[in-house]
Amino acid sequence: METMSISEHTTLIGEKLSAYKAAGKKAFVSSSFQSHSLPLLHIISRVAPEIPVYFLNTGFHFPETMAFRHTIAERFGLNVIDVSSPVSKVGQRDGNGKFFFVHNPDHCCYLNKVLPMEPVLAQHDIWINGVRRDQTKFRATLQEEESLGEGKLRYHPMLDWTSKMIWDYRKAYDLPEHPLEAKGYLSIGCMPCTRSFAEETDGRQGRWAGMAKEECGIQTEFVKGSSNHQSS
Ligand code: SF4
Repeated sequence: METMSISEHTTLIGEKLSAYKAAGKKAFVSSSFQSHSLPLLHIISRVAPEIPVYFLNTGFHFPETMAFRHTIAERFGLNVIDVSSPVSKVGQRDGNGKFFFVHNPDHCCYLNKVLPMEPVLAQHDIWINGVRRDQTKFRATLQEEESLGEGKLRYHPMLDWTSKMIWDYRKAYDLPEHPLEAKGYLSIGCMPCTRSFAEETDGRQGRWAGMAKEECGIQTEFVKGSSNHQSS
């Protein structure tokens, strides 16, 4: 896989998506709209722009992320659909009135990231997700296709891509950068759980600083057979 060129990887992804379509499988993509998410979104826009892209709108995102999501959807011509928690923000506070992300981020992620994906998954057969092996210990254990049960699959087309391949693709197609990267944010999630590189360098480059948490739950809760399920 390492010796394949980026264009060969892209061709393979296109072929895989065509094969799913020919088999009558309904696919969707989920994306967090970070800079490193853009190669997959750009490939989708080139080979299968009809595939919907779901964005988990937790209500806790940086305004810059929301603006970037809209810019990319328009520039790439993607059908981006926001999904939100079925639990209102009033129901996302503990007995002291504090949002769950303060003391129980796993539960907050469950409410805002896992729950909203369940109806999306119920309507589709293939969940395309851009995780890479080099991002976390859990992601290093994943296969290109993972069963989600009930005949559904997760397809991880970027699993063997490296940071350099992502960078090379972004450069080749002059893809934009998430506006917060220039301010020192390397991994950008919800505002309360993201630190800039200057503030925090541990863990997943500034996510859930000070907590033994690397995943938000949409990566760990759905894949069958995972030995690393977290209640997030
Ligand atoms: S990343 Fe933080 S704010 Fe966002 S859903 Fe998870 S715990 Fe809540």
